[in-house]
Amino acid sequence: MNLIEISNKYPTELEAIKHFESVRCNKTITCPYFKSKNIGSRNIDYHYHCKDCQKYFSVSTGTKIHNTRLELKTWLYVFSLITDAKKDYQHYKYKGT
Ligand SMILES: [Zn+2]
Repeated sequence: MNLIEISNKYPTELEAIKHFESVRCNKTITCPYFKSKNIGSRNIDYHYHCKDCQKYFSVSTGTKIHNTRLELKTWLYVFSLITDAKKDYQHYKYKGT
């Protein structure tokens, strides 16, 4: 997917968060600290509250992109650029140019 396609498919931060949730959590949101499934609904700041350990978390908690201060939408762009660069590299590598 190129940047324009990503921008159209994930026009808002919430759409990007939902995408990351589908990739990372499948259909069940679980606490990244103790794997509890006793989770409240998504807060207005896109964080969840674990009713067992009382901690707040987001879909990026426990990942390398957590605390980067970049929106997840921006990370989708970055991952797309990296993926495209790898495809181009493989294409030229096998083409021998
Ligand atoms: Zn928890």
